[in-house]
Amino acid sequence: MNIFKALIGEHWKESSSGQTFPSSNPFNQEVWASIPSLTKEDVAEAVEAAHLAFRDWKKTNGLERATLMHRLADLIEAEADHLARTETTDNGKLFKETKNQVLFSARNYRYFAGYADKLLGDFVPLDNREMIDYTVMEPIGPIALITAWNSPLSLLANKLAPALATGNTVVIKPSEQASISTLEFAKLAIQAGFPPGVINVVTGDGAAGDALIRHPLIAKVSFTGGSQTARLITKAVSDKLIPVTLELGGKSPNIIFADADLEEALTGAIAGIFGAAGQTCIAGSRLLVERSIVEVVKERLIQKAATIKLGDPFDPATDMGPVANKLQLEKIVSMIAEAKEEGAELLYGGEIAKDVGLHGYFIKPTIFFTERAELNIACEEVFGPVLTIIPFDNPEEALSIANHSPYGLAAGIWTRDIKKAHRVAAEIEAGNVWINTYRASAAGAPFGGTKQSGYGRERSWHALYEYTHIKNVMVNLSTKKRDPFSMQTK
Ligand code: NAD
Repeated sequence: MNIFKALIGEHWKESSSGQTFPSSNPFNQEVWASIPSLTKEDVAEAVEAAHLAFRDWKKTNGLERATLMHRLADLIEAEADHLARTETTDNGKLFKETKNQVLFSARNYRYFAGYADKLLGDFVPLDNREMIDYTVMEPIGPIALITAWNSPLSLLANKLAPALATGNTVVIKPSEQASISTLEFAKLAIQAGFPPGVINVVTGDGAAGDALIRHPLIAKVSFTGGSQTARLITKAVSDKLIPVTLELGGKSPNIIFADADLEEALTGAIAGIFGAAGQTCIAGSRLLVERSIVEVVKERLIQKAATIKLGDPFDPATDMGPVANKLQLEKIVSMIAEAKEEGAELLYGGEIAKDVGLHGYFIKPTIFFTERAELNIACEEVFGPVLTIIPFDNPEEALSIANHSPYGLAAGIWTRDIKKAHRVAAEIEAGNVWINTYRASAAGAPFGGTKQSGYGRERSWHALYEYTHIKNVMVNLSTKKRDPFSMQTK
């Protein structure tokens, strides 16, 4: 059994209540680690450490912050195997995927390190030529970073890299379903030389998260998780009037037109829904297919699904690992049962794969077909390897189905017609649109949702504005007398 501790200031701490919670490996259900379940008072201690550290950290120059961030990226790259192994043991995601994500997180720290000494303000020319005006990007203060279990380190980098580059201190609260890679990462942050209190990690369930966001010294919340939790969070902080960034779920449409390169589109459809066993916010879980090719798409996807190899997430030959935990397994199974009852046509899978692993949480890749886009299986996030194919007759109908969703995170468009591609991209209600690809990411490309998929952007220079206030400074150089009873606008 591995015993882990939370990071508060410069100390690794157990819960003051002595309580812990276990982590079990979703591949074999072995309990392999114990994590402290922090009390409200422990969480407050972490926030106070972040508050204290903010006084000096906000005054560091960009080069100092960038140097530490590059050092952190070096350590992440050197320890990538270890971090990925930890994450895979915790959430069952394929090792090749977690390794890739760990390395991508290092790329994100480097990307934002590049901005740390380039947080430029504006010099604003005014109508009144006897005044000068400039802006400054200022850090916000101790920020709560709350993450989901599906990609802990990658989700964290989306938040932590811009937060650090802009001079904020943070208290991180990883998911209780997968906390350990974040604790291992925090050891590297200390090794890199970040001053005590700049990065804190508190562990526990939603109650620890709730204590964190409600703390009076928390100046902002950046959250990745489900829409229901997001509603609780925004309500809980509404009295404090602090800014919130929300990265939530989706029911993303992946649209295949009849003129697409079919082979590429099918690969994109598989990547969209069966990559990471469908446990990604951007899962292309609604496959909208032009009617003239729908039969061939069904047939080919069934063939491809049948070749997907389920198994040990550490085996390089495995295509799909287990789903991450029992709760998730039960949710997927019940949504599949409901889809069958609602009358969706089951084309493939639709059941637990009992012959895989010891007692692993494996769901067969599952494909439904329906003409009824209003079915729950075609509207609600499953967060598992379950695809719903829906036919359409023309681009207008494809857009109408695609946009008839409370979510607006991602969308895919497959066509060889460049005009159609851009016309559809312009009309689609989503924060991220891929044309002739799916599930591709880059540090420099903004990521985030619209509608109930959240607000705010991660990655890219846009994220810098999520972690700064813009201060405007106006300076009067005039020697003329002013009228004190009239606003000075000229
Ligand atoms: P969740 O909402 O259950 O939990 C997310 C985090 O919030 C956890 O750390 C949890 O402990 C914490 N939490 C729970 N209750 C809280 C409260 N009252 N106050 C503060 N914190 C609280 O989500 P999950 O099951 O971990 O993750 C799955 C969801 O995350 C899916 O909907 C998925 O689409 C979404 N997600 C979104 C993105 C994105 O970037 N848009 C990425 C990954 C996952």
